[in-house]
Amino acid sequence: MGRIRAIGFDMDHTLISYNREEFEALAFRETLTKLIAAGYPEELATLCFNPNLLIRGLLVDMDRGNLLKVDGHKYVKIAFHGHMRLARDVRHRLYNSESFKAASLLSVDTFFALSEVQLFTEIVDYMAHHPGKINKTFREVYQDLRRFIDLSHADGSIKNVVLADPGRFVRKDKQLAPMLVQQIEAGKSLFLLTNSSWDYTNALMSFVFDEKTDDFATWRTYFEHVLVGAGKPGFFMGAQPFYEVMTDTGLLRLENGGLKPLSVYQGGNAVLFQQLANYRGDEILFVGDHLYGDIIRSKDSVNWRTLLIVEELGTELVKLELLKESLELIKQRLQDREECDEELQVIRSRKRHQAQQADKAKTVGEGKKAHYLLKESEKLTGREDELQLQLEQLDRDIKELLQEREAQVHPVWGELMKVGLERSRFAEQVAAYACIYTSSVTNLRFYSPFKRFASTHDLLPHDL
Ligand SMILES: [Mg+2]
Repeated sequence: MGRIRAIGFDMDHTLISYNREEFEALAFRETLTKLIAAGYPEELATLCFNPNLLIRGLLVDMDRGNLLKVDGHKYVKIAFHGHMRLARDVRHRLYNSESFKAASLLSVDTFFALSEVQLFTEIVDYMAHHPGKINKTFREVYQDLRRFIDLSHADGSIKNVVLADPGRFVRKDKQLAPMLVQQIEAGKSLFLLTNSSWDYTNALMSFVFDEKTDDFATWRTYFEHVLVGAGKPGFFMGAQPFYEVMTDTGLLRLENGGLKPLSVYQGGNAVLFQQLANYRGDEILFVGDHLYGDIIRSKDSVNWRTLLIVEELGTELVKLELLKESLELIKQRLQDREECDEELQVIRSRKRHQAQQADKAKTVGEGKKAHYLLKESEKLTGREDELQLQLEQLDRDIKELLQEREAQVHPVWGELMKVGLERSRFAEQVAAYACIYTSSVTNLRFYSPFKRFASTHDLLPHDL
């Protein structure tokens, strides 16, 4: 952190945390209403948003209408079609027996996507149980969904409801302002970089930063630059100019001659921002919750330092702490399994060797020796069978323990960062692109603004 001169913050789900149940339920309802108005069956009106049904990090196979959890090696480990879990052999045939391009599937990266993907899953389920009622491909259904969600955001049917009663949708965090002040006092320059529009940003930030202090009269005084309607991830790759937002009228004026401190800009791009604000890529830390739009693109395109907000860890870590003993038990069983397997392999090779020797003895007419060798080999069979049974029992135990443990975290999808004991695809990307990650942006206040964050020991399998 010592080398960081500027810290950029995303707004939604980074500086501002939403009451997801309320917000997503609103988006879900608005989109559903529009779908039904466009001709989707009236019966769908009974559907409700369920905040616990899905997790981030899943992939959507729009062509087959399936929802997938994929491990770090790109193997699909859990798959659903609507509310039906795909059997192991179907899952293997569809995905794991040949290479599939995870990158071509839709990644559920943001909290905003959860309601949209749930609605997709519900409609796929409806289609499976009511054939012929919706004569569209799954991809067409998803395209309709996207169109109506975008429309719900654009026509104000979501925004106006939120702005009319922000307290219902947004949580205030008393630690937010002190955390920003701590960074400012350490000499860092802060900027806001959000895709949200100026009026929405201003309304929500004013709501959250409602306590005025002598040094900070409004939320805007915390930030040297306020960049709205940025169009991330395009902001990190494109060449769009900056437009200054006339905050009294909302009108735009093409920026010429640099970014004025405390002004509000729309559009723009990262390269131009660095040039105008005079920062090198690695002097900027960007904090965001969107793995692709905030983190992967900013790291890949302009080499910014990145801090990913993984809100789920706040609750998952508490659960995992309680499940420590079960993890120890699983590790013990895995160790037992390894020992059992090793002994079994030794016995099997010894038996194979004895059988080969017996054959040889037979061919050279040493019948007695052959008989003795076969007898010796038979003696091992009892132990071999015993070990084989033990191994099967251990496999069942391990599977059961893992399933129990995962179900404690999430009944269907398990841990966000893991599939069984392996890293999930989501975790693999977090490890690759996020310099650091934490459950809440306010956790920064627990560390010095000059703290050097380093992995305690970045282990690869060969180091163990
Ligand atoms: Mg965000």
